[in-house]
Amino acid sequence: MKSFVKILAAGLVAGSALTAAVAVAQDYPNQPVTIVVPFAAGGPTDTVTRLVAAAMSEDLGQQVVVQNVGGAGGTLGAGQVAAANPDGYTLLLHHIGMSTAPALYASLPFDPITDFAPIGLVTEVPMTIVARRDFEPATLEDLIAYVKKNGEDITYANAGIGAASQLCGLLFMDALDTKMTEVPYQGTGPAMTDLLGSQIDMMCDQTTNTTSQILAGEIKAYAVTTPERIAVLPDVPTMAEGGVENFELGIWHGLYAPAGTDQAIIDKLTQSLQKALADEMVGNSFAELGTYPVQASDATPAALAQKLEGQIALWAEVIAAAGVEAQ
Ligand code: ASP
Repeated sequence: MKSFVKILAAGLVAGSALTAAVAVAQDYPNQPVTIVVPFAAGGPTDTVTRLVAAAMSEDLGQQVVVQNVGGAGGTLGAGQVAAANPDGYTLLLHHIGMSTAPALYASLPFDPITDFAPIGLVTEVPMTIVARRDFEPATLEDLIAYVKKNGEDITYANAGIGAASQLCGLLFMDALDTKMTEVPYQGTGPAMTDLLGSQIDMMCDQTTNTTSQILAGEIKAYAVTTPERIAVLPDVPTMAEGGVENFELGIWHGLYAPAGTDQAIIDKLTQSLQKALADEMVGNSFAELGTYPVQASDATPAALAQKLEGQIALWAEVIAAAGVEAQ
């Protein structure tokens, strides 16, 4: 009898928790939602996020606002979201850096797996190796010879340790067995301004931040990091064409909430993300920038969780093999 009462009571508690969760989700969102971009405004992560946020705003019927929290290669912004109230009103859009940071930092203010609730993958973006318009080397072959010869005399912009631009530079320097002088920014948006002004020599950054400047002839492009050339930049060779084998890098992005966010809210955000990625305007804008939205089956918590876990293991190995020590 006693146990029957207990079961009944437990059922009632579970039932009322469920009712409360459904009520929270039905009411959500009833105020603007913030997506933290862990880099400066005007860069590639910012560009992708603003396109997705605009489409999600329409779907959710609430403003989805982008907040730029740049610094420390994306770890400041990610740490801020990890510590935020898990109420669905503070989210994070971050890239591959979520999986490289554990190998690059001796201690992090967050755990990429346990401190976040994944919502879904967003996109995967090719990288381009670019330089100021008046940089001496003409082709990828020339660039490789020039970098090997001039090493640390060359300045190389990135968005700090843990950024995609830093990872690409690490792999490039490792492949060429040389070192350049790294200059960190809060994001590759401001780094692009300095590249356009010829204050810096080189950068490796996503097509979402380089395509229009390459096409306008405002910067030089030497290579794309995809196995094949890409449609929007048909004249830019692959790394393999320049003789650098096994240099493929795609910058995947994911949307996260802080761990502990109500599952019904996560489900609503996943649905909204999927609708945003199916939006024609988002698809067209992504295509013009050399990327594409992931399929709906990948814009899910399970797909993002699986990607993150696999990539943390992969980059730990690659970064250790490149002899890079955690800072
Ligand atoms: N995505 C860039 C990087 O990781 C930074 C940025 O978005 O500004 O280098």
